[in-house]
Amino acid sequence: MVQNLFDLTGKVALITGGNSGLGLGFARGLAKSGADVVIWGRSKAKNAAVAEEFAAYGNRVLTAEVDVADEAAVVAAMADAVARFGRLDCVIANAGIASPVPSVLELDSKTYHDLLNINQHGGFFTLREGARHMVERAKAGDPGGSLIVCGSLSVFCGVPGMAHYGAAKGALAAIMKSMAVDLGRYGIRANMVAPGYIRTELGRDGDTEVQRATENAFAASTPIPRIGYPEDFEGIAAYLASDRASFHSGDIIVIDGGYLASI
Ligand code: NDP
Repeated sequence: MVQNLFDLTGKVALITGGNSGLGLGFARGLAKSGADVVIWGRSKAKNAAVAEEFAAYGNRVLTAEVDVADEAAVVAAMADAVARFGRLDCVIANAGIASPVPSVLELDSKTYHDLLNINQHGGFFTLREGARHMVERAKAGDPGGSLIVCGSLSVFCGVPGMAHYGAAKGALAAIMKSMAVDLGRYGIRANMVAPGYIRTELGRDGDTEVQRATENAFAASTPIPRIGYPEDFEGIAAYLASDRASFHSGDIIVIDGGYLASI
């Protein structure tokens, strides 16, 4: 008999930045596997568009305008999601921006801190609030949960003009590992997914010649000779949220077509 190993029926997942790009890829994978989803983003219009799409999967969907850099907003919205859907089984800290500069010499403190506020601190607030709920649930006799953070290859190698971006991702990798160690006793897992070059809205300025040249260059230097797409991330989200991943924690899972192995 065929079985769906990654059936998420009855589970609830929250994805920050789930209204676009990689977050939307994660969210689609979770919803297609049966999970109810909570999607956060700042844009009401983008949230409304995904709410309509996700209604078609037949599961519950909740969207909220949340700026993850606002700690109080994250605390309140996480409590609201739990109140409305009863539980959270998976929390994905994915929301992020990129603000590249010509080199580290031009990296002023405003650009540096503005990015850290969203990518690093926002990710931490999200994961911590998700973990607090999961621990409370475990203490009430219902252990388990999957915390996922969206990393990047900048955890492993330098990216020109992106020292602040790499700083945030490196910090998130360290936070993820601490959480895996602190929370394993509750059956809670923490992992990072590190994507290679993926076509999303991040740093994208339409379908320009420069954009196409960048994508072609990445594709040409990737062992699987193409760039990545959000749909490449549906499967890993379903796997990590599922009970089949219940012994998988503290890991950084690279999804880059083999790029990192080749440099
Ligand atoms: P997108 O620009 O397509 O998506 C970014 C998402 O984050 C949007 O949903 C946006 O929603 C949300 N967001 C941005 N700022 C905030 C905020 N302050 N509070 C809440 N939500 C916010 O880019 P990607 O999908 O590429 O980026 C998602 C993650 O993937 C990021 O963490 C990025 O670092 C990572 N990544 C991307 C790679 C790539 O090649 N694209 C490679 C490696 C990692 P809204 O505008 O509504 O707020």
